[in-house]
Amino acid sequence: MEKSARPRTALNECVKVVVRCRPLSEKEKNEGYDEVVKVWPERGAVQVYNPKGQDKLFTYDAAYDCTADTQTIYDEMVRPLVASVLDGFNGCVFAYGQTGTGKTHTMEGTPDHEGVIPRTFRHIWAHIENTASPDVTHLVSCSYVELYLEDVRDLLAKDCKKLTIRGQELNGFYIPEMTSIVCKSAAEMVRVMRAGNRNRAAGRTDMNEHSSRSHAVFLVTVETAHRATNRIRDSKLTRILQDSLGGNSKTIMIANIGPASYNYDETITTLRYAHRAKAIKNKPIRNEDPKDAKLREYQAEIERLRMLIEQR
Ligand code: ADP
Repeated sequence: MEKSARPRTALNECVKVVVRCRPLSEKEKNEGYDEVVKVWPERGAVQVYNPKGQDKLFTYDAAYDCTADTQTIYDEMVRPLVASVLDGFNGCVFAYGQTGTGKTHTMEGTPDHEGVIPRTFRHIWAHIENTASPDVTHLVSCSYVELYLEDVRDLLAKDCKKLTIRGQELNGFYIPEMTSIVCKSAAEMVRVMRAGNRNRAAGRTDMNEHSSRSHAVFLVTVETAHRATNRIRDSKLTRILQDSLGGNSKTIMIANIGPASYNYDETITTLRYAHRAKAIKNKPIRNEDPKDAKLREYQAEIERLRMLIEQR
């Protein structure tokens, strides 16, 4: 039995905001662009030199310069969030920023520089292997959707069929027809992600134009069943992210920026938006079967009574 009952009451928790500035590309160097961004990792601060006026300084939960690798960002920021998800909370990590600033690099990465998503897959399966017991079973399933203008498309379905979002703000939104693929390993989840990416790119003649207006959302559901009880996790982008922005989720936003002078305006816009996002308050609560909640209440009551007896 647990020593103390964990509260089910939601505590306000702000969205964690992280800024990552990529290095100047070879092309930018060759074209002679100056760097206008200076990151102060130890202060979580980003300074942008303004050639026409005062420098701008913003502070965040963390700020990473071009020397930071995704492993560090994962370990310092994302790992605790995924651990919470494995403990029954909702979690969301999303990348934000101008095209070409490192969202794909951060989230998907490459086989040599794994991004946050494949690292999350490995983390989930390491947890499953570490907690394996005859009393516990896990079910991991994945969905992948793309939002393009007002359409939601299923990236794991034939012909990327259009989907409808149902539900309402009060009780949450859901997508009834969304494909959900059960996976048995991290490698399988990567294969599902790649298949979705291929569908996302298929038939797009102007990928640049398309990707600047489209958002891809990869959803992972981890269900954990205990032998005696069942503990389960149960504009359109905002709807899908409803729980993640001001709802029942712990959320990290990674704002990506480029360092070059010609990015100045976009960089300031991204940093301002990321700064505002720091004020979004979530109320994460552990998702659990109502029976489990009752059990926790009884455990807390037993613990309270036991302490009363011990104090006599
Ligand atoms: P986005 O998805 O935001 O459009 P990308 O992730 O495709 O941008 O990044 C654009 C380019 O910059 C890619 O060639 C990528 O490899 C490179 N890049 C992005 N971030 C970094 C980084 N932190 N370190 C090294 N290269 C990076």
